[in-house]
Amino acid sequence: MAEATDTFTNLGFDPDALRNKYLEERDKRLRQDGNDQYIEVKGDFSHYVDDPYVEPGFSRESIEAEIEVVIIGGGFGGMLAAARLRDIGIDDFRIIEKGGDFGGTWYWNRYPGASCDIESYVYFPLLEKTDFVPKQKYTNAPETLEYCGVIAQKYSLHENALLQTEVVATEWDEDLGRWKVSTNRSDKIFAKFIVHSNGPLNRPKLPAIRGINEYTGHTFHTSRWDYAYTGGDSHGNLTGLTDKKVAIIGTGATAVQCVPHLGAAAKELYVFQRTPSSIDVRNNQPTDPNWMASQASGWQSERRKNFESLMVGAPVKEDLVNDGWTEAFRTLFSGVRDLAPAKWRIGFWALFAPLNRDFYKLGLKQYVTKKVTDYMDLSRQIEIADFKKMEGIRARADEVVKDKVTAEALKPYYRQFCKRPCFHDEYLNTFNRSNVTLVHTDGRGIDEITENGVIFKGTEYEVDCIIFATGFEVGTDYSRRAGYQIRGVGGTSISEKWADGLSTFHGMHSRGFPNAFFFGPAQSGFTATYTYSLDEQSVHLAHILGKAREKGANRIEASQRAETEWVKTIIEKARLTADFQEKCTPGYYNNEGNVNTKPQNNTYGGGPIEFFALMEKWREEGNLDGLELI
Ligand code: NDP
Repeated sequence: MAEATDTFTNLGFDPDALRNKYLEERDKRLRQDGNDQYIEVKGDFSHYVDDPYVEPGFSRESIEAEIEVVIIGGGFGGMLAAARLRDIGIDDFRIIEKGGDFGGTWYWNRYPGASCDIESYVYFPLLEKTDFVPKQKYTNAPETLEYCGVIAQKYSLHENALLQTEVVATEWDEDLGRWKVSTNRSDKIFAKFIVHSNGPLNRPKLPAIRGINEYTGHTFHTSRWDYAYTGGDSHGNLTGLTDKKVAIIGTGATAVQCVPHLGAAAKELYVFQRTPSSIDVRNNQPTDPNWMASQASGWQSERRKNFESLMVGAPVKEDLVNDGWTEAFRTLFSGVRDLAPAKWRIGFWALFAPLNRDFYKLGLKQYVTKKVTDYMDLSRQIEIADFKKMEGIRARADEVVKDKVTAEALKPYYRQFCKRPCFHDEYLNTFNRSNVTLVHTDGRGIDEITENGVIFKGTEYEVDCIIFATGFEVGTDYSRRAGYQIRGVGGTSISEKWADGLSTFHGMHSRGFPNAFFFGPAQSGFTATYTYSLDEQSVHLAHILGKAREKGANRIEASQRAETEWVKTIIEKARLTADFQEKCTPGYYNNEGNVNTKPQNNTYGGGPIEFFALMEKWREEGNLDGLELI
């Protein structure tokens, strides 16, 4: 027990006090209106989603066509789906994309400093097929967009693309056995199969703040950066701001990356903060091309598995990625190895082990007592490791930021994975600049926007420009986020079907919506390396369509039994994470604090590695169990 005792003593902080402080910080932020605190970007606000990256006035003839597969969305998900279809010889597909080119998230998010803090060697899909060598361990937005072009070229995707085209409706025609896809360019496309890969964070959100529409200065959302106004590009150098007073609202992962560039350029910068992000070390490095060239075949898949295994506390021989993410999880799970048998090391997703031989040794009563004690110790040790990690993050604010009040305000008081952890080496330093002011609203948010600027606590901050770094819709209705309705058998909409909670089979199929495939994290495996999930989904899609072709099937639909069982699985596994999420500060990770109002609206609680293995096994069985094929 010596080890466990050491874990809980001589910590240099009081765990009980910290636990209470975290709850206090959460309580300050809990609010009744949840997702309704944001307004939809439509009507008077629709200019916030105009595409600033294309020449205005594009037009083309509308088309009428019969196609085997329509893929909605030209981000990584849509591109991967298309690539895997090409691989199995399905070439009769169209990718419909709102933007002027492929890229999805990376097409829209070109703000200065935009980059990905998941290592590029795991984040970029298909690296072994494209032989692309990312320049750095952590890539940036321009290179990611360039890489989307590389994939598009390799799989000749432009010839199958309908760009600058928005789907407005999809409707199943039972008699034809086809999906009718309508677009804003009056296209009428009939598709046998349809893939919805419209992106989980595609719809920018704005705070429903009094006066937001009164403001007469310049304004935009970070996902539609207005370089015509700011000057510069994704690398910075925002020369248009040298004589401007700028406000940025929000301090999430996006703001953390663009604030240093705004601080370097603006005459004055006000950063309006509701909750601070946790800012860990980034330490970017150039790629050694010899290292990439020396990797054996299959290296990327191994590296991804290794990374995701560490993220769920599963044992691995070596930490291949060895960065802030893996370090954070290694810290969390260190010290629990002796206490927990191998099956337990699966992180937040499953803190209870299945029955094992202890059960037979100890008998029911003692077994349960032991499990409860072990569990308490395990979760307590994980919590202590988390406290330690976050104490380090808070100490960094003190080390870097000279003004003590500002440093204090920049300290996050919540567990590390309550919000998206950030990794940046210039963000905190920006607050040492004399032209940069942190306006800490202490959980409350800004009070009002006026004709001239932003009001908080009675002070009006007059500015030339307001930039909204307020993120994207997550918990709202699927069709609202997608931008189109989906009507299945009998005209039932997906909004109606999912009104009381998500209902899918494997996150990909939903009964009543035959031949439709949903890509995304809902009821599926979610990873921080989102492209990894999309890659797995594209493999799964191609497997099913390949099998359907073999069997001569024209209609694929989830059986009621399979869907009901899957929803049950999602609910059962979601319970394991609910307690953790409830103690978190609100945000989109925990449905703005309304945790588990509909527990089926979760990702697969067993974690991505378990989910991918489950899907692989299902594919290997080869009989498409749970799907009805006609
Ligand atoms: P987020 O949703 O993470 O952040 C929105 C920010 O706006 C929060 O700080 C939020 O505060 C704040 N906010 C909302 N309403 C108000 C208000 N009324 N007054 C003041 N502040 C307000 O969006 P992001 O665009 O930053 O990030 C979205 C996601 O995109 C990330 O979580 C990540 O998954 C991904 N991403 C990844 C990056 C990477 O790889 N490094 C970079 C950028 C984005 P509060 O926290 O209190 O709600």
